[in-house]
Amino acid sequence: MAHLYVLPRFAVISGYEHQAFIPYTDLFATPSTINLGTAGDLEEMNHLGASGLQRGARAQVLQCTVTDITKTHITYTTTSDNGLTGTHQLQYSYMVFAAGSRLPRPLIRLPANKSDASQWLGGVQATVAKSTKIMVVGGGPLGIQFASDIKAAYPTKEVTLVVSRSRLLPSFDEKMHLLISTQMESLGVNVIYNDRVSDIDAFEQERAKHIGRMMSVTLRSGRVVDSDLQILAIGQRPNHELLSSVEPTLLSSENSLKVLPTLQLDHPDWSHVFAIGDVAQTGAVKVGYMALAQADIASSNIVELVQCGGRGSERNLKSYEPAKPEIKVTVGLTTMVSQRIGGDGNYEWSTSETPKDLHTAFMWSAYGADPTDMTL
Ligand SMILES: Cc1cc2nc3c(=O)[nH]c(=O)nc-3n(C[C@H](O)[C@H](O)[C@H](O)COP(=O)(O)OP(=O)(O)OC[C@H]3O[C@@H](n4cnc5c(N)ncnc54)[C@H](O)[C@@H]3O)c2cc1C
Repeated sequence: MAHLYVLPRFAVISGYEHQAFIPYTDLFATPSTINLGTAGDLEEMNHLGASGLQRGARAQVLQCTVTDITKTHITYTTTSDNGLTGTHQLQYSYMVFAAGSRLPRPLIRLPANKSDASQWLGGVQATVAKSTKIMVVGGGPLGIQFASDIKAAYPTKEVTLVVSRSRLLPSFDEKMHLLISTQMESLGVNVIYNDRVSDIDAFEQERAKHIGRMMSVTLRSGRVVDSDLQILAIGQRPNHELLSSVEPTLLSSENSLKVLPTLQLDHPDWSHVFAIGDVAQTGAVKVGYMALAQADIASSNIVELVQCGGRGSERNLKSYEPAKPEIKVTVGLTTMVSQRIGGDGNYEWSTSETPKDLHTAFMWSAYGADPTDMTL
């Protein structure tokens, strides 16, 4: 599993990249109370190469790529250690669809296995190290983290952050902007507000011709920014296609899957499928802790439907209500700026110190993995 939160940081500084990839091996070491399949299903999955599968296991990780979804089956491909691929089908009664969103560039090309992905991050670090002028586009958490990490790690490089609004993190309180912009200023990041790269496709074509070379980008205002590395931290794109291609009415105007408050897909034929996280239109900000809260609601509703299925059980399903947004953003390698809800229910803002590894060991433990050797 790629620990997304640390990828921008570990794409800049070296020595930590292996920590970003957490093995699935012990994800379900604590037996779940939900029996996800019959012995027959599990034997079939074992035959198809599910890792660490044991007869009687109550939950199982199957490392694969889902290529097709119908109302009753998924089709998926697996790749074995010797590179052989296979296509398989699995029948389901209920599904939670949590396919997330595409990673921003340059992370979008992240390889699937740990050693290739670690090596690839090393390659991104080398590209950052040899660049002299870096332009980062996007005033959200990713843009802020990329720009401030690069400037903190390489103070002599010229780093420019281009932001389309008049402030950073426009979805959060202005106090966050003030705290972050103060840190950005002390690091020496040049922030350009109220401006944007007007034609992203044309920009991408130009960029492909200038890899490793200086390029001039004219922003919408006419201002020109020179850079030999450009990082686009914009435009989250949810991976909804597997379902929206089968049932186009599921797609919301915000490019996510429409869900009911119970997190079931908002379509009578698809009420046995739940969507959560970045791919779902839940009204919540698209961050990890919101996805976790949605997972609790979706799994509890599936248990209710399985145990008390039939007419009337829908009435007992839980509804999801998005919590008030909180956020922590690093600004530079050791500073964290936060907006949290305090004990009195009101927001609190703070600037604090954080370790360079962003507490990866904690995340390993949370996913059942042993953090004493993170090279595994
Ligand atoms: C670089 C980065 C940093 C972030 N930092 C933070 C942070 O500090 N704090 C925070 O709260 N949030 C952060 N977020 C947001 C957070 O990571 C997401 O909101 C959260 O991961 C969403 O969870 P999800 O389950 O919807 O999707 P994801 O966590 O993206 O998981 C989706 C999974 O589905 C898999 N998948 C997709 N398609 C298929 C397919 N066809 N077949 C099989 N598998 C498939 C993907 O490989 C992936 O493993 C960050 C996001 C990014 C990109």
